[in-house]
Amino acid sequence: MISPEKIWSSDQLPTLPAVAVRLLDLSKNPDTDIKEVIETIKADPAITAKILKASNSSFFGLRSECKGIERAVPLLGTMVVTSLALSFSLSESAITEGPLKSRFDSYWKQSIIQSAAAELLASKLGNELKYDSFLIGLLQDIGHLAMLRSIPNDLLPVLEQAESQQRNCSEVETEVLGINHTEVGVKMMERWQMSEQFKSAIAHHHDTFEQLKALESDPNFKLIIIIATSASIGDYFCSPNSGLALHRLQELTAEFYNMPHDDLHGFLENVQSRFEEAAQVFQVNMDDIGSPYEIMATANEQLVQLTMKAQVDSTQACARQAVIEEQKVKLESENKQLQSKAIHDPLTKAYNRSYFNEAFEKEIYSCARAAHPIGIIFSDIDRFKQLNDTYGHQFGDLVLQRVAHVANESTRRSDVFCRYGGEEFVIMVNNPSENGIKEMAERLRALIENEVIEFEGKRVPVTASLGAVVGIPPRNITGFAERLVAEADEAMYESKEKGRNQVHVRSIISQEDQELHRLIKRSRFSRWLVTKKVFDIPTISKALLKCPKQGEQVKIGELAIAEKLLTAEQVVKILDQQKETESRFGEVAIRQDLLTLEQIAYLLALQIEPPIALGKTLITLELLDSTNTAELVKQYLSEIKDNAAPKEEHRTEYANS
Ligand code: GH3
Ligand code: MG
Ligand code: MG
Repeated sequence: MISPEKIWSSDQLPTLPAVAVRLLDLSKNPDTDIKEVIETIKADPAITAKILKASNSSFFGLRSECKGIERAVPLLGTMVVTSLALSFSLSESAITEGPLKSRFDSYWKQSIIQSAAAELLASKLGNELKYDSFLIGLLQDIGHLAMLRSIPNDLLPVLEQAESQQRNCSEVETEVLGINHTEVGVKMMERWQMSEQFKSAIAHHHDTFEQLKALESDPNFKLIIIIATSASIGDYFCSPNSGLALHRLQELTAEFYNMPHDDLHGFLENVQSRFEEAAQVFQVNMDDIGSPYEIMATANEQLVQLTMKAQVDSTQACARQAVIEEQKVKLESENKQLQSKAIHDPLTKAYNRSYFNEAFEKEIYSCARAAHPIGIIFSDIDRFKQLNDTYGHQFGDLVLQRVAHVANESTRRSDVFCRYGGEEFVIMVNNPSENGIKEMAERLRALIENEVIEFEGKRVPVTASLGAVVGIPPRNITGFAERLVAEADEAMYESKEKGRNQVHVRSIISQEDQELHRLIKRSRFSRWLVTKKVFDIPTISKALLKCPKQGEQVKIGELAIAEKLLTAEQVVKILDQQKETESRFGEVAIRQDLLTLEQIAYLLALQIEPPIALGKTLITLELLDSTNTAELVKQYLSEIKDNAAPKEEHRTEYANS
């Protein structure tokens, strides 16, 4: 517990500058002459400049530029300029350097979010409270500012405790300090002689849903609800307890704003764009606030946890079990949807660029271990700007959707199709050959060209230029993704330069890797089955698609020991050398004359396509019975191992590379 005197006797409490005090007086009087307001502002040149700059920002969306304060004040209104003057002086009080900087920054950031939210909420309940809401929204946590300035060492541990225990901070403040920021805020309003409205809205901003409902007859009820709701929105965006905030927010918006659960997310997106505009006015950086999808996903996850915790705490857990389960299922499904939104482009439903980057990195990493090729196809719609300009943006959007649809349909399940940017799409192709990727890109080009897209009943020709690249990632993959993207991009530009509606392909696979890859292909069980005419290519391809991907591949060193090609000591020696040189296992083994290229290919083929796994799939698909499968696997292993017997010329070639 602290003595409240410690706060009130502090010389660090925020104060109001003279111009703000005078403006507040003027704004209370409906008969105030606007000239007087202008003169008051002009007395403080710093505030004048800031208000003028703000009036020309996108936040207010005024049609014409205000060159002087004389024009800005009548356009914005007395209440708005008063709010601005007050906000700018508060912003100065909230800026500090030193160890508490981040706490002050988050206080001020949250205040701006709350005021933007309060303003939007007010417009949902009729516009008359808009300006008051903006200002009170901004001031509601002034208690925190006062406490941060007067008793920082007492307050900080309390805030940390509330965060780690996922509890309402006012509650923990009262419990530990004997006073909370809501009460301090009300006192500050009294000191500043603010109206009853301000005091009562601030007094209730952390009330529970039930407490708020009981206030229905209060003359300031609407304002109280707006500010209480904006407080939850502030916590939702800024505090680590977004789940708790979301819960209160859902209750409040459903009860008082008639807002169904599903509309809340859209509303929060509006709030975010509004506070980003406001942030520009106050020159605050909001970059660290996550995207609405990310925040909603975290909040939902926390809600699930809170619900579970409530279940454990409850003495009548059994009776509530069904309800809780239902809520949990609902939240989890909502979360799935949100996660899906986070990785998809809303217009075309293709994966988005951030998903692509992540998947691409992962795939490169796994290809690097197996010396496996990877490829990407870039496609860019031709003269798309012209389509937009001629037929309108909406038609442009339709074209994007249709092209995405065509491309997605023609993409194999193992490949990943994404919208890379505006009218650029990219496909990540699994295990491609140069010819294979070329055929794929050519097929896609033709499909886009042949897609019938109409504007007012008339066909509009749409084509795209494509560029593709294949490569085998080296052991050290740094920079490889960027290199592949750059090559694909250049190949695409080559298609543009040479007349558009065409395909160019590049390979950045070295001669040695090409040879190794050819040998691996030849050694694979699937290939062997085709050579022996056990299956045709379409049947084996289908089986390969059904064959479960190996989660954790057997390590190549272990395979070599099992196949009696290397001793354990030799493997250790190779691994040591490999760490030093960041080369692949096979490269080192050849350099040290321990394995041949054919033997490496044999081991890699076993690693990529374990014959037992493929055999099991063939049995499951009823393409073979188990006796036959066992016989074939045995025959394959002995033949292929014989083929891998040392051949001198390869050994030297690869080792010198
Ligand atoms: P080029 O053949 O050289 O690729 O010419 P282009 O006109 O396709 O290329 P440019 O990069 O000049 O223009 C791309 C245009 O795509 C500009 C941009 O306005 C438009 N665009 C980007 N994203 C979208 C979108 O989501 N919808 C619509 N309708 N247009 C978009
Ligand atoms: Mg608060
Ligand atoms: Mg284009």
